[in-house]
Amino acid sequence: MKREYDVLVVGGGPGGAFAAKTFAEKGHSVLLTEKRPAIGAPVRCAEGVGKALMHEFLKPEDGWVAAEIEKANIIAPDGFTMELEPEKAGSEVGYVLNRKVFDRDLVWMAAGAGADVQVKTRAVSPIMEDGAVKGAILNQGGTTHEVRAGLTIAADGVESKFSRWCGIDTTVPFREIETCAQYLMTGIDIDPNATEFFVGNSIAPGGYVWIFPKGDKTANVGVGVGGDRCKPGSRPVDYLNRFIARKFPNGKTLELIAGGVSVCQPLSCTVANNLMVVGDAARVSDPLTGGGIYAALYTGKLAGDVGSKALEDGDTSTQALMPYDSTWRSSYLGKALERNYQIKEVFIRLSDEDLNAIVHSVSKMNLSDFNTLNLIKNIISANPKLAIKLGKAGLKTLLDSL
Ligand SMILES: Cc1cc2nc3c(=O)[nH]c(=O)nc-3n(C[C@H](O)[C@H](O)[C@H](O)COP(=O)(O)OP(=O)(O)OC[C@H]3O[C@@H](n4cnc5c(N)ncnc54)[C@H](O)[C@@H]3O)c2cc1C
Repeated sequence: MKREYDVLVVGGGPGGAFAAKTFAEKGHSVLLTEKRPAIGAPVRCAEGVGKALMHEFLKPEDGWVAAEIEKANIIAPDGFTMELEPEKAGSEVGYVLNRKVFDRDLVWMAAGAGADVQVKTRAVSPIMEDGAVKGAILNQGGTTHEVRAGLTIAADGVESKFSRWCGIDTTVPFREIETCAQYLMTGIDIDPNATEFFVGNSIAPGGYVWIFPKGDKTANVGVGVGGDRCKPGSRPVDYLNRFIARKFPNGKTLELIAGGVSVCQPLSCTVANNLMVVGDAARVSDPLTGGGIYAALYTGKLAGDVGSKALEDGDTSTQALMPYDSTWRSSYLGKALERNYQIKEVFIRLSDEDLNAIVHSVSKMNLSDFNTLNLIKNIISANPKLAIKLGKAGLKTLLDSL
């Protein structure tokens, strides 16, 4: 391992890989360091991503896509099913990926562009000098190495510690961590071209159950539950076991994963002197759905573009890196995060009766009028009690975010 690079990337998920690839393609020396022994495993993801969003950056390669999805079904607590075409269903339908292959290939691309990669190598602390990040101390098999870099990218995912060590407040309130459990199941009777989302306070309080097909009779079946709603006997895996006992009693489970998703607002600032924070570490996953693959790609690429220019200009101060922060915040992504945060704040307060009423009223909407503003207008006119629940201030915040 060399001791000095232009760029050090901490974390080998989609955000880190895309940042490393972008910097390397622009001719910078890059080290990507990943604490796990293999890129992409274990998978902690339902693996859904919108087609159009993915195509903004990548055309799927062999082995990336496990299933192509044509529609999403939302199932209300009373069992009523609303069908949504993919373009109306948000960013988590389109493809269900094989992230073991996808994540590895992204890092492969970064390596192909010239980045060095080290696995089983954990960043254990930043090197801080004069209030600026100058690289990190890496631990590889018990041996520590000091790696200095002009710019460090914190891409260390939802459990991110690196930017906190550098002085950025990364605290996520417990209620804004969606705790998840997921089985990879086979032998189950599903529509291989439809994702399914089950909502309801007894099924998944503050979250939802998902079925994301991965081929014939095979799917990721998971649940996310609001962090403050978990207690003994009501952990995500308990909700999941109850769901599959009812829905797929003869299904076979091949894999169990557990993980958290932040459903909070993004970090208030995603840059510091010589530091950029991308992907889940920046808390840019969608607060409504928990989806973060697209945001990781978007912020990883943008960090590469802005950071590369800063390196070329010889100024990687907070101020010089600020265009990264302001660009993603004012982009389609930043606006969607703000809007979906407000919607999520409403969603988690809904009773099963409210959820039933919403799913029924939305299913009657004319699809040509389907956009977020019309959706909210429709929901509120069909369910005026909701407006009372939200209050004047809540309603204004929600509408302002659209
Ligand atoms: C149960 C579940 C289901 C999900 N489903 C979806 C979905 O269907 N669609 C979707 O878009 N998103 C989904 N997500 C979210 C998605 O997985 C993330 O948003 C996405 O992986 C973020 O990419 P990232 O590169 O920011 O972080 P990650 O993919 O988490 O990568 C971070 C990497 O950093 C490494 N790392 C951490 N600390 C260090 C360190 N100190 N040193 C070196 N390496 C370190 C980690 O090992 C990891 O490999 C889901 C998440 C969960 C938990």
